[in-house]
Amino acid sequence: MPNLNLNEHPHRRFNPLTNEWILVSPHRAKRPWRGQVEPPPPEVRPAYDPTCYLCPGNKRVGGQVNPVYTTTYVFDNDFPALLRDTPATELADHPLFRAQGDRGICRVICFSPRHDLTLALMETADIRRVVDTWAEQTLDIGGHDFIGYVQIFENKGEMMGCSDPHPHGQIWSTTWMPREIAKEIAAQRDYFDAHGVTLLADYLAEEQRRQERIVYANEHWTALVPFWATWPFETLLVSNRPARSLPDLDSGERDALADGIHHLTVRYDNLFLMSFPYSMGWHQQPTDGADYPYWHLHAHYYPPLLRSATIKKFMVGYELLATPQRDIPAEQAAARLRDLSDLHYSRA
Ligand SMILES: [Zn+2]
Ligand SMILES: [Zn+2]
Repeated sequence: MPNLNLNEHPHRRFNPLTNEWILVSPHRAKRPWRGQVEPPPPEVRPAYDPTCYLCPGNKRVGGQVNPVYTTTYVFDNDFPALLRDTPATELADHPLFRAQGDRGICRVICFSPRHDLTLALMETADIRRVVDTWAEQTLDIGGHDFIGYVQIFENKGEMMGCSDPHPHGQIWSTTWMPREIAKEIAAQRDYFDAHGVTLLADYLAEEQRRQERIVYANEHWTALVPFWATWPFETLLVSNRPARSLPDLDSGERDALADGIHHLTVRYDNLFLMSFPYSMGWHQQPTDGADYPYWHLHAHYYPPLLRSATIKKFMVGYELLATPQRDIPAEQAAARLRDLSDLHYSRA
């Protein structure tokens, strides 16, 4: 039997954060392709849009009026997925028909008062304000007795179902551990118990040694395409030190994080010469009061695009019914992102 060649042979890769496998089919990436698709015409947006419900001074759908904010601005979601005062009772009249009342707090974070910006176009000092806001909100929302987990995320782009292009993110928090967090708790706890070090600390050390999947790194942060990436240009942004949460970060680490977000999002935009869509979110230690020595702070970026500004990867058919699959190996995706310019294409 010849050795397994990860650039040639179909194989599966293990995701140690979730204890799941994904299928990689590198030979399919060699299928004939009709060639480059033209990038979309540059999107021109005004700095202020009178019809945008997130712009400063504008009326929101729920009727409230935004203050004339000049920096990052947070408000309670007008249409929250969870409410604070739902009865927490359980409906369990049959083991196959279980339901549980759920409570939570949902907020919206406007990253900037400027309608025409994105994180990729914001100054690093302004991204630092976003980092500080994420940390403050984690403490504030997580400080409520009934909140077990604070999920911070950003849905960017119409392709991700984002209805307003104004740069913003969201926070949904719950009394219980969401599915992905529950998986990562189990995996990180088992690894820490067995090795006495966080799973991502060991993983990062090995990636730093191999270098082939790192997209960008600075003193405190590393952005890489994980070995087990599912989405074509998925990345993981990991704190070099095993910090447990955003509020744990000191000032230097927060500045470095803003720098890391800047360099990663600029590269994303430069990939297909467009404002690159993605869902991203932070995975930090739960706020239920228990101790999580094994938790290692990181963010996941899940972008849907595959070959151009319009051709996306679909998670359908086999992915939906069996196991996620990708064609381009993670190493090739990382090399493409790494080789892109640090200067945003619209400013080049
Ligand atoms: Zn706006
Ligand atoms: Zn995670």
